[in-house]
Amino acid sequence: MKFGKISPEIVQELKDAVGKDVIFDEKTHRMAYSRDWSPRDDKNTTLPDVVVRPRTTEEVAKIVSIANKHRIPVTPMGGLTGMGGGAVPIYGGIAFETKGLNKVLEIDVENMTATVQAGITLWDLNQEAKRHGLYLPHEPESKKAVTVGASIACNNDSTFGIRHGRMVDHLSNAVIVTGEGKIVRAGRRKAMCSNSGYQLNWLLVGSEGTLGIVTEATVKLIPVQKNRLVDMIVFPSLNDSMYAIRDIMHAGLALESAHINCKQRLRFYTHSYKEKHGHEPEIPEWSEALLGISFATAEDTDEIIKFNRDYAIKICEKNKGLLVKEVEITDGWWASKYTVNFTPFKQKWPDSQREKKFGAVDCGFPIGRIEEGYDKFIEIATKYNQQILGMCVYHERPNRLSPSISFAVFVDDKDPENIQGFYSYVREMSEAAIEMGGTSATYIGDSEFKTPWIGELEHQEAYEYMFKIKQVFDPNGIMNPGKKFPIKMFGYKE
Ligand SMILES: Cc1cc2nc3c(=O)[nH]c(=O)nc-3n(C[C@H](O)[C@H](O)[C@H](O)COP(=O)(O)OP(=O)(O)OC[C@H]3O[C@@H](n4cnc5c(N)ncnc54)[C@H](O)[C@@H]3O)c2cc1C
Repeated sequence: MKFGKISPEIVQELKDAVGKDVIFDEKTHRMAYSRDWSPRDDKNTTLPDVVVRPRTTEEVAKIVSIANKHRIPVTPMGGLTGMGGGAVPIYGGIAFETKGLNKVLEIDVENMTATVQAGITLWDLNQEAKRHGLYLPHEPESKKAVTVGASIACNNDSTFGIRHGRMVDHLSNAVIVTGEGKIVRAGRRKAMCSNSGYQLNWLLVGSEGTLGIVTEATVKLIPVQKNRLVDMIVFPSLNDSMYAIRDIMHAGLALESAHINCKQRLRFYTHSYKEKHGHEPEIPEWSEALLGISFATAEDTDEIIKFNRDYAIKICEKNKGLLVKEVEITDGWWASKYTVNFTPFKQKWPDSQREKKFGAVDCGFPIGRIEEGYDKFIEIATKYNQQILGMCVYHERPNRLSPSISFAVFVDDKDPENIQGFYSYVREMSEAAIEMGGTSATYIGDSEFKTPWIGELEHQEAYEYMFKIKQVFDPNGIMNPGKKFPIKMFGYKE
């Protein structure tokens, strides 16, 4: 069996159903939707046959119904910043641009919720919420481009995860268009807690567009934070920095962010210092880990967070930490994480990402084996000739050590061998993580490149049940084919 092909008649059928201003089949449009941020060479790029940009849930449902009738692949797309090929239309078909679904439907100040169309970016949602004194504390670095729908679909991480968690912690309601074109409202309306039925809205979290297209979401907001204190502390080992975070939480201090960087990433953050002073800052030779922390409050005064911050620094010092005094370094880190005004992104190599892109494997190691995970990173990246950028660790469950890890390297997009080496590195790192009791994915997801082996390596018995769920939502396997389940499981030929 093969997927259906888009013909001029099907393009016309789509135009008749939703209007010609929603459907684009010119090559220039199709080229713009052929890849995401994942390292790949030009030969490994598939053009979609048509691009759609609907504006309502009903239009989405009409398009998916037509696709389902003709068994045309449908690939949902957000900001296309995904790093694993999740939004790449590997079997052609329909590139589903969701950014036309960009309206704020309601800000409910009393209940502190926002209901939005899912193609809105996190940034635009917050611009609107802030006008009401509220905000969604979900802040990946890429928030200017990333959509709410993609944040649900790929369960991405957030600078403020250690205090506020991820989308799963904010999401009370979602509307999904299934692979059959049915509109399903899943969730608890505006109640944040419910144990009625299955929590289908949470099933969508991390589903990577394989169950359907998220078209609307209701998310919980918090008051805008008026005061914030940001610091960096260096440690002689990664474990010491972990222990410091643990002890800060156990002391009852409300960390807003906690982000560990390995020593290779230090030069990222020393950049602004070097620019200003003309020389490198004096960071102790023994520094193996760099911990960035913040405390924030909705109060007009910084009294409470000052107490929290001072106490946290004492705890860091007890764990062999040393406060970084050079504000430019701390500012550099904060700019990269939060204010989106990060100098290295604008500089020339070796400090920039203009000449070579970064690629990352996001496998997770258990807390007690982070140091070993880091050693594996150096060993395996070196084995596959990958240029090391560095490791960083967020924590993504409120008040817990819960590492979401990025093991990043620079990848030369113009060198197929280097790209091939990158994917061997991804697989071997994932194998090492699983063997040590960890996981193959903490923020990128299964995406295109892990799909051929995740069933066997990562999920074993449970994979069969996952496939049954997939079949319920998408019986013909048209939703983002080749992600999470190889297409042969639906009887399609490559
Ligand atoms: C410079 C840079 C910094 C980054 N920083 C971070 C970071 O701090 N934290 C982090 O976690 N990631 C980060 N990333 C990775 C990336 O931004 C995230 O994975 C993000 O979630 C991708 O969102 P997107 O809108 O670009 O989605 P896309 O790449 O377009 O899509 C991602 C996945 O979601 C699916 N999808 C999209 N919209 C929908 C929808 N409406 N319904 C169903 N499925 C949908 C797609 O099919 C795909 O599987 C970064 C990337 C870059 C390039």
